Amino acid sequence: MTDHTHADTLRTPIVAVLGHVDHGKTSLLDTIRGSAVSEGEAGAITQHIGATDIPLDTISGMAGELIDPSDFDLPGLLFIDTPGHHSFSTLRARGGALADIAVLVVDVNDGFQPQTEEAIDILRRTGTPFVVAANKVDTTPGWNPQDGEPIQKSMDAQSERAKSMLDENLYEIIGQLSDAGFSADLYWRVQDFQKNIGVVPLSALTGEGVPDLLTVLMGLSQRFMKEEMAIDVTGPGEGTVLEVKDERGFGATVDTVVYDGVIRNGDTVVVGGQNEPIVTEIRALLRPRPLAEIRTEKEFEKVGEIGAAAGVKIAAPDLDEAMAGAPVRVVRDRTVDQVVEEVKAELAEIEVDTSEN
Ligand code: GDP
Repeated sequence: MTDHTHADTLRTPIVAVLGHVDHGKTSLLDTIRGSAVSEGEAGAITQHIGATDIPLDTISGMAGELIDPSDFDLPGLLFIDTPGHHSFSTLRARGGALADIAVLVVDVNDGFQPQTEEAIDILRRTGTPFVVAANKVDTTPGWNPQDGEPIQKSMDAQSERAKSMLDENLYEIIGQLSDAGFSADLYWRVQDFQKNIGVVPLSALTGEGVPDLLTVLMGLSQRFMKEEMAIDVTGPGEGTVLEVKDERGFGATVDTVVYDGVIRNGDTVVVGGQNEPIVTEIRALLRPRPLAEIRTEKEFEKVGEIGAAAGVKIAAPDLDEAMAGAPVRVVRDRTVDQVVEEVKAELAEIEVDTSEN
């Protein structure tokens, strides 16, 4: 266990998006990024490797009257950019899920489909709190789109007929959640989000209801995960490999989500490998270049250190045999052997878990 005695701060919760193919995961992520950018504030979003950071200020700008930012002390939300439950189930952190919270996207017309059921099973198994995004409300016949508005405002602008058709579809989904063993309701009726799953009607296409989704995610994180978000910002960094990639000039690199402590350039790290843990020294920590500077020939910029929660590309020798989903641990003030044992134990746990599938 990490010692949280000094330099505690609250990190950003890590959010994953899951759901059946074509139900709108990619569109939803694009819309969240897009509307955050069009909020127009400087630094409205920070693009990470493999993830996007939406700060509280931006969420509160988008959510308007839905949010009082003084109710929150978590800094925002970090969305993992690769949607889908295959990546979700490989992305572990200390035996649990890397994502602290998940969005299950369900097409409001299609309802539950095979991959929705699979995603639900994974969420149940990992005990990951989640909300349901009932997507594509704009496809309801006769819908009068209210771009980017909170869902209640949008509902008020619909005909009785459109509203009742949407309601029927929403209650179908609530019924399917109940068949899957989850008591659920429209999110504004949920009193206790630990007992009930909130369903957020929205459209990734028009953005209506997206402010509600961000508000619910912030609220859930703040209320139920604040303790887990308290980290020692100066502690040895811990992360999970998203992807192993060859990068010109750097060789094999690992795209990593850091969920605890800090990783510094030059740190000795232990990375889970195909045969045995890899012990190596960081040569460069890379982040995407800010959009304004994209015209320069280099895609990445080097940083001296990166603290949780964040996505970063690690360049170091001997990473060819690193594995997606494997742990990354900074050694810092411990012995290499100690950290190697930790990584081995965690890899063994992951293997047991995947063989149960
Ligand atoms: P994914 O496979 O879950 O990532 O789904 P995509 O984001 O690729 O979306 C699948 C299709 O549904 C695309 O053609 C999207 O344009 C469309 N789509 C996604 N969200 C919405 C929505 O809210 N409304 C409408 N009308 N179409 C949507």
